[in-house]
Amino acid sequence: MPSPPCEPGRAALARQGYLFVDRSSTAAVKPCLWCRRALGGGETCYKQQFYGIESHRCVQMTPTLRCNQRCLFCWRSFEHEPREEVELPPEALLAALPRLQKQALAGYKVHVAPERFDEGAAPRHVAVSLAGEPTLYSHLPRFLDLCTEADLTTFLVTNGTRPWVVRDCRPFQTYVSLDAPDEATYRSVCRPADPNAWELVAESLALLGTRRSAVRTTLVAGLNDHDPAGYGALVADAAPTFVEVKGYMHLGYSRKRLTAAHMPSHERVRAFAEQVARHAGYRVRDENIASRVVVLEQIE
Ligand code: SF4
Repeated sequence: MPSPPCEPGRAALARQGYLFVDRSSTAAVKPCLWCRRALGGGETCYKQQFYGIESHRCVQMTPTLRCNQRCLFCWRSFEHEPREEVELPPEALLAALPRLQKQALAGYKVHVAPERFDEGAAPRHVAVSLAGEPTLYSHLPRFLDLCTEADLTTFLVTNGTRPWVVRDCRPFQTYVSLDAPDEATYRSVCRPADPNAWELVAESLALLGTRRSAVRTTLVAGLNDHDPAGYGALVADAAPTFVEVKGYMHLGYSRKRLTAAHMPSHERVRAFAEQVARHAGYRVRDENIASRVVVLEQIE
């Protein structure tokens, strides 16, 4: 019988705005800052700017909070992670999303136009990217297919350590994280559980050239912001549709591991992204200063 997710951890996360689908699992929803701002007609997320995803209709969720890495920059708490949990059927997970999103946004109802609130409560996009490694959820391919059948676009963000799952997933856009230009840096920054993780990430990267995809790099000042030629060579081999180079943000539990000085400035992110682009044969497509992110695209 699996042990239930750690209760103190669950309570702490609930205070931070996580809404759990069920007490037996760590599948959760948490509207991001941009979703809440956009609902009130304010600023939107860079995903709306870059890819046309409407921020106020986007659900940020995860099917599990478990992970097989311990990235220094992760905003999740490692101490509260459950070792086992009950996995919800993908149909139940999908059915819970509008209910939880509506519940999470309820406090804004009196501040926005009724039509706008109704739109927010009826999401059109699912970002499988909240925290945890989603490929550890055994029903992920089916869950993504169900979303597509329900006319929801999906972004899957994975650390790439389970390429056999990535291979079976058909999201609208697949992100694989690439947070180091070499194995030694990867081991020190991402701290994977699997001794073969670097090779496995390479296998996931090799899947990106044949689908709509993005390589995501979280740049941490002084830890992995070196060797842009190394990143560029890996990107050129993988040939993703896009590359997002994003500055580390000093948020959540990462504040226990890193300092504010590990946040690169937007200028630093931009300069590094330009170097990666030059080595990979990509060009800068757009940037968002508030999120310290630069997106690159292939030169046709
Ligand atoms: S892979 Fe993602 S969820 Fe896992 S530790 Fe790294 S940043 Fe956190």
